[in-house]
Amino acid sequence: MDSNSSDMIPLRQTSSRKRLDHKRDTICIFGTGDFGRSFGMRLLKSGYPVVFGSRDPKHSILLPSGAQVFSHADALKISKIIFLAVHRENYDFLPALSDLLDEKVLVDVSNNIRMNQYPESNAQYLAQLVPKANVVKGFNTVSAWALQSGSLDASSQVFVCGDDNKSKQLVMDVARSIGLTPLDQGSLLAAQELENYPLQLFPMWRLPFIITAGLTVFFFLYCMVIKVIYPYVEKNVDDTYRMMISIPNIVFPIVSLILLGLVYLPGVIAAFLQLYRGTKYKRFPNWLDTWMLCRKQLGLVAFAYGFLHVFYSLVRPLRYSSYWRLVRNVASQVKKNTTTEVEMIWVWRADVFYALGILGFSVFGLLGITSLPSVSNTMNWREFRFVQSKLGHVTLLLCTAHTAVLGWNKFLKPTSFKWGLPSGYILSMVIPCIVLVLKLILITPCVDRMLTRIRQGWERKEKSSGNLNI
Ligand code: NAP
Repeated sequence: MDSNSSDMIPLRQTSSRKRLDHKRDTICIFGTGDFGRSFGMRLLKSGYPVVFGSRDPKHSILLPSGAQVFSHADALKISKIIFLAVHRENYDFLPALSDLLDEKVLVDVSNNIRMNQYPESNAQYLAQLVPKANVVKGFNTVSAWALQSGSLDASSQVFVCGDDNKSKQLVMDVARSIGLTPLDQGSLLAAQELENYPLQLFPMWRLPFIITAGLTVFFFLYCMVIKVIYPYVEKNVDDTYRMMISIPNIVFPIVSLILLGLVYLPGVIAAFLQLYRGTKYKRFPNWLDTWMLCRKQLGLVAFAYGFLHVFYSLVRPLRYSSYWRLVRNVASQVKKNTTTEVEMIWVWRADVFYALGILGFSVFGLLGITSLPSVSNTMNWREFRFVQSKLGHVTLLLCTAHTAVLGWNKFLKPTSFKWGLPSGYILSMVIPCIVLVLKLILITPCVDRMLTRIRQGWERKEKSSGNLNI
């Protein structure tokens, strides 16, 4: 009867009962430092009995109330799972405990100061030191501060890896019970990667940041030469005030447009490379891979710069210099008793310019929103590609047209080349125009058909050094 009734316990109930059993398991923490104490406090709050193993149990201070502290040997006798909150350099006390650690789960939470600091990961080193223990790597991406304050939003994911599946599951259950999200990363071979992870600083943003910073500085200086230094040298006019609004409002759209071009340029280069090679099964060069991987970041920076351009444009009429120029024109017309007739071409030009800008920025906003994981997760692959690729190229087209209408026919007038330098807007259109022309070639039916076949797995047969490559 008993066995029958236990057989009838539903699966969910069994697993939750199991979890409760784990909750009752005593957890041992070696090391009463920052991480050990914070982790212990968190475990206690979640209902786990906690024992600390310390070199000096009698003098351990600031331990969370409710926890007990023993020598290493005594503490690990009480628990089958031990979190090692000690730096790798101090692991040498562990081999002496090897027999007591037999079949126990030993969790390595350690990090290093530099990436790939040691030839093997700390967890692999630990496994060599105490081969009888089941070593699991985990929790190293969670900071002591986050554990203590409870603000785990940014680091609630706990990456776990280890060679023994049962031990790994045990550690993942502990993570779950204290409100973290465990992610299984496979065997202990993944430990090096997990140890490098907290040392990374915006790895995907580095290249976009360098490109953006470089372009911003270059175009700021370029515009300074044309808009401030040139009038000062040639006409003795002080236009230094332009540094605050006018020049940034030229630099932001220029850099934004170039960055947007750089988002779509690697895609067309990749397509031409596939056409040239006649296969999609050859790896792209590393530089192209790296470039493609940071397209999202380039796009987001481009959007941020576009946003700044909108703001700066909105305040332009409020500036004293704009107000003064307007009043001066009116006063001069009143003085001369003349009225300037409206030129319809300029009216049209201004309206087309603003319309293209508004449309371009709106579609750009759509691209930015759909790149958010919470939005992109609700789209299927086709929808995502439609927005990011098709609408992306439309954005590029609208923004390039917006810039071209601004420049209008200025590029035909030699006076607009100050000291022979082309205006910034001309330079900003070079990359977008290249992308748009290349894209136009790619979407012509015959090229598009060939590219689609290649992307579906077709390969061009080529004879190279007597071999037939298929
Ligand atoms: P910590 O404040 O310096 O504490 C380390 C503890 O190790 C000491 O309190 C000491 O505890 C013990 N210890 C020191 N020398 C020892 C020795 N020779 N032999 C045996 N035990 C010794 O360091 P922590 O910040 O807590 O970091 C501990 C580990 O957690 C490190 O590997 C770190 O990379 C990792 N981690 C830390 C954080 C964090 O935010 N702090 C986050 C993730 C991972 P007893 O005096 O009780 O023996």
